[in-house]
Amino acid sequence: MQTESVFQCRMCGHCCEGSGGIILSPTDLARLSAHLKMEPDEVIRLYGERINGKLKIRNGNDNRCIFFTPRRGCSVHEGKPAVCRAWPFFRGNIIDAESLALAKDYCPGIRPDVSHEDFARQGMKHLRQEDLLASDPSCEGNALIIR
Ligand code: SF4
Ligand code: SF4
Repeated sequence: MQTESVFQCRMCGHCCEGSGGIILSPTDLARLSAHLKMEPDEVIRLYGERINGKLKIRNGNDNRCIFFTPRRGCSVHEGKPAVCRAWPFFRGNIIDAESLALAKDYCPGIRPDVSHEDFARQGMKHLRQEDLLASDPSCEGNALIIR
């Protein structure tokens, strides 16, 4: 089973809005800086903020990630952080069927009839293949720490 058979983004933008903040790990910051062709300090100054000690991407006035654009979706697609690359394969959805059921309501990209077992199996494969699993809760996304 391929990732596309479990999930295909519909570009609705739901996951780019809200106040949770998109965490920028050191690896994310390096990738985003290279994509934007900017120094990391400048990226932090223009687009970052620290919340509870963690570096995150700021929101715009519309309460969406500052990189979200209504017509094109993510404007930094190639340089976007690990949590954005990983969604919907977050720890909660992988370990808990009820969490996945809620995620299906929230994200139209998740195949509605996919079983939790298939979702979890494909999700872990995707996270490993794309090197998205995290281990440091001080600077990486908790949703990607799966032990
Ligand atoms: S909520 Fe799902 S379908 Fe909508 S933009 Fe995010 S990943 Fe894509
Ligand atoms: S970086 Fe891109 S994908 Fe991630 S929240 Fe911002 S606009 Fe959405």
